[in-house]
Amino acid sequence: MDALEAKIATCRICAPRFAATASAHSPRPVLWHGVQARILIAGQAPGMRVHLSGRPFTDRSGDRLRDWLGLSQAEFYDRHRVAILPMAFCFPGYDAKGADMPPPPVCAQTWRARVLAEHRDLALTLAIGGAAIRWHLNDRRPVAQVVADWRTALERRIIPLPHPSWRNTGWLKRHPWFAAELLPELRLRVRALMEMPG
Ligand code: SF4
Repeated sequence: MDALEAKIATCRICAPRFAATASAHSPRPVLWHGVQARILIAGQAPGMRVHLSGRPFTDRSGDRLRDWLGLSQAEFYDRHRVAILPMAFCFPGYDAKGADMPPPPVCAQTWRARVLAEHRDLALTLAIGGAAIRWHLNDRRPVAQVVADWRTALERRIIPLPHPSWRNTGWLKRHPWFAAELLPELRLRVRALMEMPG
């Protein structure tokens, strides 16, 4: 893994693409994982705050995600238990409306299978957002539909989730089953894996 990690750390595949965005930033891959982790958080891509901090989910989305999972900061960042591997490891930049651009598919195509091959103890994957859902579940339905069908995905030890962005607050309010049914099951499973002896 060390050799692979070193290659990813110096990856510049998307440098021209990022240089052409409004932020004109350079690649900065943000991976947070240990090979013995049992929980995989498969998000979309780092945002600007994470690009600057170099640590995943150091933003309001992270606060909401930790609340969904019932994890403290220390637990969430325990790499021996939780692997945080987004669909693209670098911040993709902003679109014309100022929103985060989607993860460039080339990242997952280049690195994802190789990184995940090193994680043999994963027992639960949290697929957050469309790109992660398509990759991990091979399901191309709209995100809301896949999340509503979460019990089917759970048979494959995957829980599909919407992005914990505050932009989705309205969706969460309109779908009370998410907090009433999905989150309790999610917290139960996450807690059981966190407390499993290493
Ligand atoms: S997003 Fe992935 S493929 Fe693109 S530069 Fe970063 S590590 Fe490389």
